[in-house]
Amino acid sequence: DSDSFPPPEMLEQDLAEKADVVESIKIANEFQTALENGELSLHYQPIIDLTRGNVVGFEALMRWIHPEKGFISPGVFIPIAEKNGLIVQASRWALGESCRALRRIEARVGADREMYMSVNFSSTDFASENFIDHLYNIISESDVLPTQVRLEITERLLIQQPDNAKAMLQMCKDAGMGIAIDDFGTGYSSLSYLYYFPIDTLKVDQSFVRAMQRDEKSLELVKSIVGLGKNMKMSIIAEGVETVEEARLLQDMGCDKVQGYYFAKPMPEKDVIEFLRNYQPIKLRA
Ligand code: C2E
Ligand code: MG
Ligand code: MG
Ligand code: MG
Repeated sequence: DSDSFPPPEMLEQDLAEKADVVESIKIANEFQTALENGELSLHYQPIIDLTRGNVVGFEALMRWIHPEKGFISPGVFIPIAEKNGLIVQASRWALGESCRALRRIEARVGADREMYMSVNFSSTDFASENFIDHLYNIISESDVLPTQVRLEITERLLIQQPDNAKAMLQMCKDAGMGIAIDDFGTGYSSLSYLYYFPIDTLKVDQSFVRAMQRDEKSLELVKSIVGLGKNMKMSIIAEGVETVEEARLLQDMGCDKVQGYYFAKPMPEKDVIEFLRNYQPIKLRA
């Protein structure tokens, strides 16, 4: 009844939270096994330059197929792996594997050192021991050029470890790697960090791209980000482009690069080779 305390709905919420905690501990343990047993794989999503219509690179995205549970979303397991530190091992694997895949893909389609691989890194990676040495070693062993590697980081890293991040990103940049801010606009830091850190690419978060057509403010926001990036001589990639209308809008505002289901979904290496072999330069207008 209404006098009981805690109210039943509060108890329910409590139980749900406990179940979540139990589930994340399970996932944390199982992720370790996944790493050891090769349950992880990578999908690659093409990044397209609208001015020339060609594929300039790919983003490597981690996939986990659990033997019993099947597909587990990176949105679920990545934050858990970041918390318990297993992401460090997973990221090293992802960097090496995606760079080797890029070399194999280039060999199969007859491209040489023309495309890049963009790999996601978390603040846990940047706080890990000898992170930069590992990066250098993995890249040189995989035989891609450092200029073919782009690090995707979030604003969170820049806020959490400003000095550490600045020094490390500068080393990466000096070695030739590109540095992209992922999900740009969703963080809550000040814009001054665009001057402070050596950033060359902004990835406009897909939530803004999604809202652009129905919401004038989102449209203006995307325009402002594109303008800001261009003024600072950065490259802009719009994420999550799902329709030709969105692509045209972005092209009209001067956004040079896009990524999204309208162009291609993330796919395994063998499909990338097929995709590139059949690829016709994108034309958004007749
Ligand atoms: P992200 O780095 O922002 O990656 C883009 C996400 O948007 C990917 O989700 C991709 O599949 C999805 N996407 C691409 N185009 C479209 C589209 O047109 N529409 C929609 N609705 N979605 C689109 P995914 O693969 O589920 O990854 C989610 C997030 O998990 C990533 O967001 C990234 O933050 C993280 N993640 C994935 N792989 C890795 C990894 O290897 N390392 C780390 N640290 N994080 C990763
Ligand atoms: Mg990303
Ligand atoms: Mg993103
Ligand atoms: Mg994201």
